[in-house]
Amino acid sequence: MALVQKRRQLSLHLPRCPLPLPPATTTTTTATTTISNELEKLQVLGHGNGGTVYKVQNKKNLKIYALKHIHANTDSTTRRQILREVEILRRIDSPYVINCHGITERQDGDIQILMEYMDVGTLETVLKTTGNFSEKVLSNVAFQVLNGLSYIHSNKIIHRDIKPANMLVNSSFEIKISDFGVSKLMCRTLDPCNSYVGTCAYMSPERFDPDTYGRDYNGYAADIWSLGLTLLELYMGHFPLLPPGQRPDWATLMCAICFGDSPSLPENVSEDFRSFIQCCLQKDSSKRWTASELLSHPFVMQTGNKL
Ligand code: ATP
Ligand code: MG
Repeated sequence: MALVQKRRQLSLHLPRCPLPLPPATTTTTTATTTISNELEKLQVLGHGNGGTVYKVQNKKNLKIYALKHIHANTDSTTRRQILREVEILRRIDSPYVINCHGITERQDGDIQILMEYMDVGTLETVLKTTGNFSEKVLSNVAFQVLNGLSYIHSNKIIHRDIKPANMLVNSSFEIKISDFGVSKLMCRTLDPCNSYVGTCAYMSPERFDPDTYGRDYNGYAADIWSLGLTLLELYMGHFPLLPPGQRPDWATLMCAICFGDSPSLPENVSEDFRSFIQCCLQKDSSKRWTASELLSHPFVMQTGNKL
């Protein structure tokens, strides 16, 4: 608590944690895939950390893609994040994770990542435009995101920034995990991974307060905590650990995540949904279910969710 009080005096307002990244665990090799010069930029889709994402069209075959362009003059931390994302994207091949068609590091040092285009946007934008998700839709969201998490976890990748804004959606309501900028590629199965990276609000108790919760740190379980909060946010329409509209600072979040009660679900939610959220939001990370265990939870096994 003394730590919290000390932090509170700093009056921090941090939607994201400007926290040190761990040293890169992989070599920053340049890309082997060359992106065609025949791409025409149609519009800006968004601005990320150090780069801009464009909707582009291949002038020959008229296919639409998303192109992330990162300028060479970005700071070294951002550049390391981008190279980490590149390294991970090159290893990934799953229908539940954003597909990367090519990566190139140009002679001027700019990096371009060509990705599949997700025409609806993110789960955050869907929440804003269409309102709270029903349990039935959430069951489908959980099924897709868990398949993505199960895939990356089995490839020893921890995402570390699971939240509605990092889940991309297309008009077939396919949901794909994106934004591997702060992800960690584990070299060994039990490699410790306790750096603060990612978005504070969705961090698990053991990432916020490693002294209390950090023994036997398990980054895979931290992704599951973030998934639980993400689904709850989509159900409730606001960040579930704080009252609607409250802008969290670091200390408020720390109190809510580490010392607060589990978020209370409305009485009318189904027992399956209540139980699923409990399996994700266990403060003791060793009690949280894994992605593959959650895939067989009754909430996810509902009709229509089978492959
Ligand atoms: P940060 O890098 O700081 O986490 P970010 O996640 O918003 O920020 P990007 O991953 O660069 O950064 O994406 C910026 C925005 O571009 C996203 O919020 C999303 O709206 C859009 N976007 C990114 N990738 C795609 C894609 N493949 N298809 C459609 N839109 C995309
Ligand atoms: Mg992001």
